Amino acid sequence: MKVFWRFLLQKSLSQHWLKRVHYAVFGLGDSCYQKYNFVTKKLDKRLMDLGGKAILERGLGDDQQPSGYEGTLDPWLSSLWRMLNMIKPELLPSGPDVLIQDTTLIDQPKVQITYHNIENVVSHSSDTGSVRSMHPGKSSSNRNGYPDCFLKLVKNLPLTKPNSGKDVRHFEFEFVSHAIEYDTGDILEVLPGQDSAAVDAFIRRCNLDPDSLITVSPKGMDCNGHGSRMPVKLRTFVELTMDVASASPRRYFFEVMRFFATAEHERERLEYFASPEGRDDLYQYNQKERRTVLEVLKDFPSVQMPLEWLIQLVPMLKKREFSISSSQSSHPNQVHLTVSVVSWTTPYKRKKKGLCSSWLAALDPRDAVSLPVWFQKGSLPTPSPSLPLILVGPGTGCAPFRGFIEERALQSKTISIAPIIFFFGCWNEDGDFLYKDFWLNHSQNNGVLSESTGGGFYVAFSRDQPEKVYVQHKLREHSGRVWNLLAEGASVYIAGSLTKMPTDVTSAFEEIVSKENDVSKEDAVRWIRALEKCGKYHIEAWS
Ligand SMILES: Cc1cc2nc3c(=O)[nH]c(=O)nc-3n(C[C@H](O)[C@H](O)[C@H](O)COP(=O)(O)OP(=O)(O)OC[C@H]3O[C@@H](n4cnc5c(N)ncnc54)[C@H](O)[C@@H]3O)c2cc1C
Repeated sequence: MKVFWRFLLQKSLSQHWLKRVHYAVFGLGDSCYQKYNFVTKKLDKRLMDLGGKAILERGLGDDQQPSGYEGTLDPWLSSLWRMLNMIKPELLPSGPDVLIQDTTLIDQPKVQITYHNIENVVSHSSDTGSVRSMHPGKSSSNRNGYPDCFLKLVKNLPLTKPNSGKDVRHFEFEFVSHAIEYDTGDILEVLPGQDSAAVDAFIRRCNLDPDSLITVSPKGMDCNGHGSRMPVKLRTFVELTMDVASASPRRYFFEVMRFFATAEHERERLEYFASPEGRDDLYQYNQKERRTVLEVLKDFPSVQMPLEWLIQLVPMLKKREFSISSSQSSHPNQVHLTVSVVSWTTPYKRKKKGLCSSWLAALDPRDAVSLPVWFQKGSLPTPSPSLPLILVGPGTGCAPFRGFIEERALQSKTISIAPIIFFFGCWNEDGDFLYKDFWLNHSQNNGVLSESTGGGFYVAFSRDQPEKVYVQHKLREHSGRVWNLLAEGASVYIAGSLTKMPTDVTSAFEEIVSKENDVSKEDAVRWIRALEKCGKYHIEAWS
């Protein structure tokens, strides 16, 4: 996409360049994000500016809608087919919707499997990389290939009290073989493990032989080609690439299932689910209840899908990203994470757990498990020691800032450093004040967060008093200090799990600039935007 976008931005392209091109843009967005469907809007505008003709108005999907982005996508697709039908009827299949009408289409999964007879089975852990790169149907999202390295868990400590209503853990990992260099603000990607019993249940349900040796490749490509490298046990393949017991399948899974249902009533139900009228019910049954592939297959016992289709349609087991919460200068052979263990209850009162966070929480350092991991740059660049910082990180948003402060504390021993003020937020002082001693230590005795060094540490306990107090309230309370540091050239870093927090915090900054600088709200908004443009206002938010 970056290459495509850069290409489209070339100055040499005239406003008639796409004169004969018809296009349609639909964005898969989430209105929780401040820059909701930003890419879609930019792309649409650029294509139009280059002379392209929009077939229909751009669609803006929103995952926050009651039936997800599909609520907007379905009617948009119907309009698209109608419009295309008007433009070039001879090129299109008949029918107003996107359902597969033709059973012959269903005979053609995009992957092929080769079965092998060799004895030489690759072991679980060293095989991860090659197995990960074997998922030919899903290669676009699989940019991982081999992991950067393997980590060994050495500490798994609770940071919250048992009755706090939250479970946040501090994890310490050590490099197993070679250490990878990382910077503060970087991201660690973790491939979660799956429940063994669930993997076995899936294999049994689908009548598969767990011990068969397979290679998987895109259809039409020989098995030594791009898709797979060496034969692997089917069970290992399922365990490391197919999310069978956590993620919900997409609607296409149900469309394909109906062709393999032998019981009439199951086929009818699947047909309904796959139809536009059944969309909302499917959304309630599937996504809202976070129904897993294993659960869906159990609900439709007559369906036997071939392995090729399962490989293509079962959601890929995805890596999860975590902000690294340590500084490598302070812990040369280690990586630390701060992880909130996700759990919730569905509308039908089914208890659900986040796959990766609950898997990590259950790991015991004594089990000596090796975790395949990848290191990535996130959206928080490593600050230089001379840069004043205003950090806002409620909850697990404090993770990257723990690394920043460790690093700066170390630097302060040898060079002069710029001040940092940090705004932290949690529910209660007693229950979920993550790393309390760490922050308090650094805000005393000339520590990097102490007022004597020009720093500061401010906490918002949202539930310790009748009215709610959040980080944005604390920012406003210390408006003068915040402005002084901004005027000295400070960079702003905001991190945390996505609610309205980044938007509310940005509004607080705008108010501060307006009040302290005695300028209009519009000027303050422009001021913060300029800060962002010159790379001094960073947000890393996750859902
Ligand atoms: C750049 C970045 C940095 C991150 N840093 C951190 C970090 O430092 N610490 C941290 O803890 N996390 C962090 N995350 C989030 C992390 O990657 C995972 O998303 C999180 O741990 C949950 O993963 P999981 O596998 O446990 O849950 P999943 O199995 O992925 O389940 C999570 C999904 O479950 C659903 N869900 C969750 N709660 C509810 C609910 N109440 N109601 C309905 N549905 C719900 C949502 O669809 C949600 O997306 C970061 C994410 C990004 C992108």
